[in-house]
Amino acid sequence: MKLLVILLFSGLVIACRGNLPPKLLLVSFDGFRADYLKNYELPHLQNFIKEGVLVEHVKNVFITKTFPNHYSIVTGLYEESHGIVANSMYDTVTKKYFSDSNDKDPFWWNEAVPIWVTNQLQENRSSAAAMWPGTDVSIHNTTPSYFMNYSSSVSFEERLNNITMWLNNSSPPVTFATLYWEEPDASGHKYGPEDNENMRRVLKEVDGLIGNLVQKLKMLGLWEDLNVIITSDHGMAQCSQDRVINLDYCISESSYTLIDLSPVAAVLPKINRTVVYDKMKTCHPHMNVYLKEDIPNRFYYQHNDRIQPIILVADEGWTIVLNKSSQKLGDHGYDNSLQSMHPFLAAHGPAFHKGYKHSTINIVDIYPMMCHILGLKPHPNNGTFSHTKCLLVDQWCINLPEAIGIVIGALMVLTMLTCLIIIMQNRLSAPRPFSRLQLQDDDDDPLIE
Ligand SMILES: [Zn+2]
Repeated sequence: MKLLVILLFSGLVIACRGNLPPKLLLVSFDGFRADYLKNYELPHLQNFIKEGVLVEHVKNVFITKTFPNHYSIVTGLYEESHGIVANSMYDTVTKKYFSDSNDKDPFWWNEAVPIWVTNQLQENRSSAAAMWPGTDVSIHNTTPSYFMNYSSSVSFEERLNNITMWLNNSSPPVTFATLYWEEPDASGHKYGPEDNENMRRVLKEVDGLIGNLVQKLKMLGLWEDLNVIITSDHGMAQCSQDRVINLDYCISESSYTLIDLSPVAAVLPKINRTVVYDKMKTCHPHMNVYLKEDIPNRFYYQHNDRIQPIILVADEGWTIVLNKSSQKLGDHGYDNSLQSMHPFLAAHGPAFHKGYKHSTINIVDIYPMMCHILGLKPHPNNGTFSHTKCLLVDQWCINLPEAIGIVIGALMVLTMLTCLIIIMQNRLSAPRPFSRLQLQDDDDDPLIE
């Protein structure tokens, strides 16, 4: 019955909207740790959630860094599969280097197909990007129809003006768009997530930007028909000058090349790999050292040439350094099972329920959900569409408590029916006349004589 109502309702919605293709705006506020939502006042974001859905924790992918996780959101792949395995990479075959300021070579991105490319290959659709890692690179010879070259000095207002203009007046229509902002990540690094005073101020500013976004979409008449996802790439852990792991105390810098440093260091040995490994292995109790083939399976971080022969993983809040102190009070990149590394996801629009809260999904689940909303055929990916079904109005899903309720209810009804049948049967059957038990004469005779 519920399924029938949903199908009828979605049919009605589609009929009312005519043949307009669904539209989706994907927004990322970098480094927005999930529990900021509980610990700080964010009235604009809370209003957005009240009219939409919230996923309290998004389990992101290892390593919990910016470029890798932004690419997982738009491809649905683990890092070993999409190839953006760190913010700093080196390819031993081509001898190419990648960094967040040297990221324009398509070589690094072409191991996967991001959703803006797939969207654009559909007839009569285009994509737009007011920044997002990879959107200013020609991936599989395609950039979004409208995009901005990355520059951290461009204001949020300018990014917002561009993206709303493209969503409003483009032909073919922009049906998928991205918007990216550097905060609260930058301040999280600078002050640390436990600096309540500074983080309160920064998060109030971020919340104000969410208010501006909603206001602008309403003003332009985009709010009702546009699906908006607000999410992030990772959280932030508190660091300290007292929690520093100095590699120089354990091994000479001349014996290896450091491709990436902290909190996950990527090590390319210059001398025998086992010698380097043995020295690093005993370096510090708060650092795990793995040969590439021994990296735990749960990280899905092994099968790619860009992952170096040895990786070092610092414990939460610890920083790996080379003979100097660390200035960072906050950092991310740590084990993706840590709650402090998780971002959240909120969404609003015709595709989403209103006022629904969900505990957790994986960051790779966002991609198949976005493909479903846009009516795109997803590329093979590591996400699971059914994890996000409860967020969507056109899907039928049962929560665990709901399922338990249904089972208990069904058992109670069955029990009542059985009791009723027994009572009815007893009443219908005629009463038997009472007859005394007749004892045989020889009943008292001994069995053995
Ligand atoms: Zn980030």
